[in-house]
Amino acid sequence: MVAMIISSPMDPSLYSVRMRASSHGQHLTGAERIVPAAAASEVAAALTQRAMLCAGGPATEVHCSLEWIDPARLCNARLPDISTYQVDTWREGRQAASCLLVRAGVPVDVARQAVNALAEGAGPGGRVMRGAMIVDAATGERLESDPARGVRASRMDLSAELRPQLERTLAAAGLAHPRVLEALVLAGKVLQAPGMVAELCWSDDPAYSTGYVADPRSGYQRITALKPDGDWRGGRVFFVDTKMASLTALVDYLECQAVLFNAAGAISPPVKWIAADE
Ligand code: AMP
Repeated sequence: MVAMIISSPMDPSLYSVRMRASSHGQHLTGAERIVPAAAASEVAAALTQRAMLCAGGPATEVHCSLEWIDPARLCNARLPDISTYQVDTWREGRQAASCLLVRAGVPVDVARQAVNALAEGAGPGGRVMRGAMIVDAATGERLESDPARGVRASRMDLSAELRPQLERTLAAAGLAHPRVLEALVLAGKVLQAPGMVAELCWSDDPAYSTGYVADPRSGYQRITALKPDGDWRGGRVFFVDTKMASLTALVDYLECQAVLFNAAGAISPPVKWIAADE
């Protein structure tokens, strides 16, 4: 149900608007925004409509929530830089992903193990997880308490000023696909988490095979193919340094800390991936 927020257009309050939809108990889609009070009802309606029109539907349950954000707890941040590596095949893409993870400080066996986990379906019975795996970057041990749900990064968005500006910049760079912007915002929040070493992601959408490796130094590094066309498996892995932060602090940051991005990073032109001996 969508609650109406009645507020003056001058009200500076921000609201977290979150939607998740399922079909007969199976997660279908989710999306979220952080918006001024005056836009909250409209955005909630738009997210609800998105759930109702979702490709894997019909949705049998849609939840939409609006939550006031305490300005004292809001964090403003800059988005990561964007680069793109072009690969000829998804196999080459997975090698590139392992290589970029190693450059970020993940041991090669841990990187390969994580790539294989996503390839095989990281949830119980080889299913796709609803959130991310959390992996100890030193040992490869999985740390998330619920291997079906994983951990979901939440409460992050672009400021109202940055959104239209960034949409134009991404479109001019040939990156207009909405998944790019959504993943960039998610990666931006994840990279600021305490103890975060790197993130690996490819979508579970069978029609979208581009994925990325992100790390705090190199930013959001797209890889043009990480799975065969038509593959429904995908997921996310957050690699963490357990000496830098407790699991409780990490999960609390990922799920609860509101982060609003008000500055963009640089965008580099795409380059062909050249495998190096690493
Ligand atoms: P997507 O890029 O939306 O296709 O998501 C790919 C995978 O990332 C999903 O199958 C989930 O396992 C995971 N995922 C999606 N959204 C989140 C999130 N907010 N936080 C953590 N993991 C997520």
